[in-house]
Amino acid sequence: MQALTGRISAQTRLLGIFGHPVAHSLSPVIHNAALRHDGLDMVYLAFDVAPEQLDVAVQAVRTLHMRGVNVTVPHKETALRLMDDVDPLASRVGAINTIVNDQGRLLGHNTDVTGFTSAVDSVLPEGVGGLECLVVGAGGAARAVVAALVEHGAKRVRIYNRTPDRALALSLAACHWGQTTCETVSLEELPTAVRTVDVLVNATPIGLAGGIKEPPFPVDKLHSSHVVVDLAYSLSTTTLVQTARGKGAVAIDGREMLIMQAVASYRLWTGLRAPIDVMRRSIDHGER
Ligand code: NAP
Repeated sequence: MQALTGRISAQTRLLGIFGHPVAHSLSPVIHNAALRHDGLDMVYLAFDVAPEQLDVAVQAVRTLHMRGVNVTVPHKETALRLMDDVDPLASRVGAINTIVNDQGRLLGHNTDVTGFTSAVDSVLPEGVGGLECLVVGAGGAARAVVAALVEHGAKRVRIYNRTPDRALALSLAACHWGQTTCETVSLEELPTAVRTVDVLVNATPIGLAGGIKEPPFPVDKLHSSHVVVDLAYSLSTTTLVQTARGKGAVAIDGREMLIMQAVASYRLWTGLRAPIDVMRRSIDHGER
């Protein structure tokens, strides 16, 4: 087995990620590369935590004096309810992805919001202000995406989800987050919505490595004016991103957001500006 960090001692502090499943996660690769680079006596591990064990796992963050953890699918919304305190932005989103253990008090944050914003800025430097957006999905990640789009002045956010009630609940909540019009899209309306919006976001697991590859919306409606943001990622470009680029659209997969949310989480745990190039290289080179 390959060592994760240089030296592990009795002082080494533990960071980690709770997910189910979690074996595909690139977060350990990214964070351990950064910790090694900065010479910090910390190590980051992945823990497969079943939903019924989440409360015990969160309690273990205190018991084991872990500095913090990321939480990912399917724990982001449940974990929020187990915190001692929640950052106002995460509270509004209703989901957390980062827990900071402040001497036994657990604080919940959502770095997906800033991670998404930074990723979009990399392909749309003028931002989403005044643009029409379509978000597919209505889970924890979609809530962060919609919060970011509203915060940055999107004109209208349309939400399509396999389970329509969840899309409705998200659109009703998001109507109160800012000036943006938020509404749901039915399956019948989806092709027209795809064709007419400026920005499309896949916030479902469709496209993740080893998972479903069929596109989450009708890709025959994509055109060269679109900006497509796929939250799914694998070590190579996702099928959706390849298809969108093939149609002349600007498209990015979830790796940039993954890096940018990791940068924000790292800062919360260590107080340091993350070595972003080291983080990027760690997944570009597939260090596992
Ligand atoms: P979640 O809370 O479990 O929500 C999943 C969403 O995807 C729900 O809207 C669900 O619809 C939908 N969905 C799941 N399987 C589907 C399928 N086969 N067909 C159509 N819709 C499906 O998960 P999440 O936290 O929002 O995460 C969603 C995705 O974003 C994950 O793949 C995650 O890895 C990715 N993500 C990436 C980053 C990044 O940094 N790149 C950050 C956060 C999340 P229902 O409501 O109908 O179940």
